[in-house]
Amino acid sequence: MSVSTVTKEQFKSFVAALVNSDQKVVGVQAKDDKFAFGELTDADALRLDYDVTILPPKKYVLPQKETLMNFEVAGAAKTVCPDEKMVLLGVHPYDMVAINQMDELFSQGEYDTHYMNRRDNITIIVCDVVTPSENVFASSMNTATCDSGYDILLTDIGDRFVVEAATEKGEALVKTINGAKEAAAADTDKRKAVQEKNIASLNKHTLECKPSDLPDLLEKAYDHPVWEEKAKLCYSCGSCNQVCPTCYCFDVQDEVNWDLKTGSRCRSWDGCLLSNFATVAGNHNFRENRADRFRHRLYRKGKYVPGKIDGQIACVGCGRCISACTSKIANPVEIYNTLMEKA
Ligand code: SF4
Ligand code: SF4
Repeated sequence: MSVSTVTKEQFKSFVAALVNSDQKVVGVQAKDDKFAFGELTDADALRLDYDVTILPPKKYVLPQKETLMNFEVAGAAKTVCPDEKMVLLGVHPYDMVAINQMDELFSQGEYDTHYMNRRDNITIIVCDVVTPSENVFASSMNTATCDSGYDILLTDIGDRFVVEAATEKGEALVKTINGAKEAAAADTDKRKAVQEKNIASLNKHTLECKPSDLPDLLEKAYDHPVWEEKAKLCYSCGSCNQVCPTCYCFDVQDEVNWDLKTGSRCRSWDGCLLSNFATVAGNHNFRENRADRFRHRLYRKGKYVPGKIDGQIACVGCGRCISACTSKIANPVEIYNTLMEKA
């Protein structure tokens, strides 16, 4: 696959052409003093220098709410299969790692056709981080850079971008960039310098162990007092779940229309910190206690999900939960480091 360089003007022309094509283009844009992924209608609005987005790009592979099928109460049902093509522009490496994890989780065991169809229709353009966010700790989680999942990798090297095509889809898109030139060794050296700087510096919080040590650390920490201590301050608002790129839990409900003859089966995001997350038939809640729910989130990230996907830790260090938690108790690094102190 090719590695090219393009000037910023050439790249902007490429984005303008994409925006004017019949393909949906989603990119990062300013939203007051923050940033958000949204449909891009103007190439000038794209901000590849953003620090972090309010919500991760997960919302495009696993929407907040989606219809899985429409049905008639009498019995007939028809699956709704997503088929919209989309270019997702400006995904940071840690968010790409999170999508890669979800790709594994949704394709292993029960293959999730809805998720995988949507994923197959998305072309992802990752961009290396230019501006670190106030709470990022991707360096601690080995996610400051990524080497798979994307179709194109962009790196800002000052006056130009280095553009690496990683798939056939990516290569086809790169071919449409007018003026793209094969990257010179000096340009790929600059890219390496940007990536090495990010590997060292996207670390506003430092995890005091290797991510791969977390499952064993948690194995011994089930009754640690930190769960009760922190949970006393938890509002069970679920914000830490909602903003997390690796939280993928969902609820499925049948919604019957006003005609009482037709309806839809919908799935929507759920969150393990919400008080009724673990409520099952008969109104039994097997995680009624706030501390149990608080602990579950950290176990899920550091032990349960890694057990499903070959040891990969389901926290990519984006720092969004730290910023979103009004109680200032959601920082995974702070909690894992506390477990080490008192282990
Ligand atoms: S747990 Fe927090 S820091 Fe880790 S991936 Fe989720 S939101 Fe980001
Ligand atoms: S964001 Fe903070 S207060 Fe809200 S559920 Fe998460 S830990 Fe609790």
